[in-house]
Amino acid sequence: MVKVLKFGGSSLASAEQFRKVAEIVNSDESRRYIVPSAPGKRFAKDTKVTDMLYSCYELAVKGKDFDKEFESIKERYQSIIDELNVGISLDKEFEMVKTCFKARTGRDYAASRGEYLNGIVLAAYLGYEFVDAAEIIFFTDDGKFDSEKTLKAVGERLKNVERAVIPGFYGSTPNDTIKTFSRGGSDVTGSIVAAGIGADLYENWTDVSGFLICDPRIVKDPEPIRTITYKELRELAYMGAGVLHEDAIFPVRKAGIPINIKNTNKPLDQGTFIVESTCQKPLYTITGIAGKKGFSVVNIEKDMMNGELGFGRRVLEQFEKNGISFEHMPSGIDTMSIIVHQAEFAEREQEILSGLHRNVHPDVIDIESDLALIAVVGRGMKSERGTAGRIFAALAHAHVNVKMIDQGSSELNIIIGVHERDFERAVKAIYEIFVVQRL
Ligand code: ASP
Repeated sequence: MVKVLKFGGSSLASAEQFRKVAEIVNSDESRRYIVPSAPGKRFAKDTKVTDMLYSCYELAVKGKDFDKEFESIKERYQSIIDELNVGISLDKEFEMVKTCFKARTGRDYAASRGEYLNGIVLAAYLGYEFVDAAEIIFFTDDGKFDSEKTLKAVGERLKNVERAVIPGFYGSTPNDTIKTFSRGGSDVTGSIVAAGIGADLYENWTDVSGFLICDPRIVKDPEPIRTITYKELRELAYMGAGVLHEDAIFPVRKAGIPINIKNTNKPLDQGTFIVESTCQKPLYTITGIAGKKGFSVVNIEKDMMNGELGFGRRVLEQFEKNGISFEHMPSGIDTMSIIVHQAEFAEREQEILSGLHRNVHPDVIDIESDLALIAVVGRGMKSERGTAGRIFAALAHAHVNVKMIDQGSSELNIIIGVHERDFERAVKAIYEIFVVQRL
C-alpha cells in the first residue's frame, strides 16, 4: 500500500500545524510521498505566504524597495524552523530568491517559492528526501500541463525513493522557466504524483472533514458526505461546492485512484472518499445539495414551435454568436426556456433579443431575472421512487414557488430553479426532508 498525501496551507501554517502533520505521516508506514502547500493563514485575518510573495514581487517589478515585505516572509519560515528545532538554514535560498526578484524572474517563480521553501523545511523535519517539483512536473512552452512527460518523470524519479516531499503548485517549462497551476494548484500536484507512482490512495488533508451535504452557511452543522462518486462531485462542484481544485480530479480518476479528503485538525474523522463507483449504499437518498444565485431565464413562445425544423438551433445560435453559453434548456410544446448567467447575459441582452426576433420570429419573449439554481445530486435517486415528489412536496410546504425543473437522463441530479429570495429556504427544506427526516 502506498499513499500520497497533500497538505493544504492551513495544515502547514505554523510549527504547531507541522507537528500535527508529522504525527499523521508517522502514524502510517504507507504514507510515503508528501505534497505541501505554502504556509497558509494561522488565523482569520492572517495573510497566506503565497499572497505575501505576490505582493512582494509586485514591488520588485515596480522597482520599489521590498525589504520589509521580504523579511516578513522570511520570518514565517524562520519561526517554524526555530520552534521545531529543524537544524537547517534557508539563508542561501532566500538570497537566491531575492536576487531572482530583483532580476524579475517572473510572477509564477515568485509564488512557487512558497511551496518550494516549505517543502525543504518539511522534508528536513520528517527526514524525507526533498524532490523539487521543477524536475518532474512539466508544462509545454505555451503553458499547458504536459501530462505524458510528467507522469513518466514522476514514476522514474520516485521509483527508488522510499519517502519524499514534493512541493505542490508548480513545475517547469522546456526552457526551465517556473510555471504554476492556478490558485489552489497543490491539489493538482498531489493528484499527479499519485497517478505517476500508481498510488493506492490520494489523501488530501485540509481544514474540514470532507464535503458536507450542503453549505454550512445555510444549514447549521450539516452532515458530512462519506462517499461520493467523481460524477456526483462534478455536479456539486459546478454548482459551487468548493474544497478541491477541479483539475485535481482528472489524473487520479484516469488512474483509478480514490481520493480521501481528511481534516488535519481532526485526523480521526473519516472524511470524504471520492471514488469512481461504489456499491456502498448512501446513507440518504441524496448525496448533496448545492446551488448558485445569479441566473436569468429567457422564455420564448411560438405557436407550432415544435413542428418548425431547426427552431432550437436558430435560438441557440443567437446565444453562441454573442459568446453566451447556456446552463439549461427546459422546453414545452410551444415554449422554450434558456437559462443563462445573469451578469454575462446582461451585457449582450439587446443583441441577443433582436437576433431572436429576426431569426425565429417568436410570438412572445420574456425575461425573468434573479433566479437561483439548486442541484440535488445523488446516485441513490436512480433506484428510488418518488424522489422528485418528495422534493416538490417539501418545497411546497416551505412556500417556495418552483420556476423550473430539469432532470438529467442520468438520474443523477435534479435541478430546480427558484427565485433568489427563496434560495436558502429551499435548500433547508430539501435538507430537512432527506437528511433530518431521512425519508
Ligand atoms: N499556495 C497556493 C495558493 O495559495 C497553492 C495551493 O495552496 O494549493 O493558491
